[in-house]
Amino acid sequence: AKYNGKNQYQIFSPSMNLASDKKFMLKNDLQKAVMNDELIIHYQPRFDPITYEVTGAEALIRWNHPELGMISPLEFIPIAEETGLIIQIGEWLIREVCTKSKMWQRQLITPVKISINLSAIQLFQSNFVEKVLTMLRGTELEAKWIEFEITESVIIDKEEQVLKTLTQIKELGISIALDDFGTGYSAINYLRQIPCDIIKIDKSLVKDMQIEVTNFEIVAAIVALCHKLNKTVVAEGVETPQQLLSLQKIECDEIQGYLFSKPVEETEFVEIIKNKKWI
Ligand code: C2E
Ligand code: CA
Ligand code: CA
Ligand code: CA
Repeated sequence: AKYNGKNQYQIFSPSMNLASDKKFMLKNDLQKAVMNDELIIHYQPRFDPITYEVTGAEALIRWNHPELGMISPLEFIPIAEETGLIIQIGEWLIREVCTKSKMWQRQLITPVKISINLSAIQLFQSNFVEKVLTMLRGTELEAKWIEFEITESVIIDKEEQVLKTLTQIKELGISIALDDFGTGYSAINYLRQIPCDIIKIDKSLVKDMQIEVTNFEIVAAIVALCHKLNKTVVAEGVETPQQLLSLQKIECDEIQGYLFSKPVEETEFVEIIKNKKWI
């Protein structure tokens, strides 16, 4: 019951709190989702902005709920993190990506590096690196074919431990991408701290680039700075030819976005990497 300010108490009925109802339901169902093969992986290719060649891809998880249909990771990843299920889901995803990548290589398809989003909780596990190594050995995939995407949020907590883990990951031969760059508070500081190889410029910056010259100049400066630091720059959320043109001009290394391809199902993705190039 909640006091409504008018000398009356209201009883919360389920229909009055749809959002938390849905969350409660999803929490319950998520456990089963892993076992019932309801989680699926889509792949969004990245491209060279000059040659239009495929340079890599990002694995993006989706939940095909039996009653609710496709559920966005924005909705269920936070729940997976809250419940700790993210550990199990994350492991499934890494193993699945490694298995698929190896399978494609055996079919003589020229492989591309596939990047996997990591939650801070995964990186906080003391045996994370060991687990990853076991998965690589089990699937016989070379480490260079996967990449981990992390956000600045991983560094807020348990700083020393996380930095050690990231260093060990790099030693395995897995590259690290700093995701959503430009959305945090002290991005430059993280650039200094996190041992990353790739910077992914957040789509909000890419969008604003076309709106104001100042924003264009900021993105240009980020690209230049990253190049000075020997990092590869990927722009995400590229939707228009104008954005592509601007990014070509400032020598951004790779682009990802709806202009070239949305995240696609596995079969469609295989066709894209077989073609190697966007035409
Ligand atoms: P993110 O890592 O920043 O992923 C990029 C998001 O931008 C994806 O949304 C992608 O579909 C979307 N996107 C790609 N191109 C464009 C474009 O041109 N325009 C616009 N407006 N959007 C574009 P998605 O797939 O809904 O994923 C949302 C977020 O969920 C991801 O953001 C990531 O933080 C999280 N996520 C997805 N898969 C996983 C996963 O396997 N593990 C973890 N921990 N998080 C995941
Ligand atoms: Ca990402
Ligand atoms: Ca991102
Ligand atoms: Ca994000």
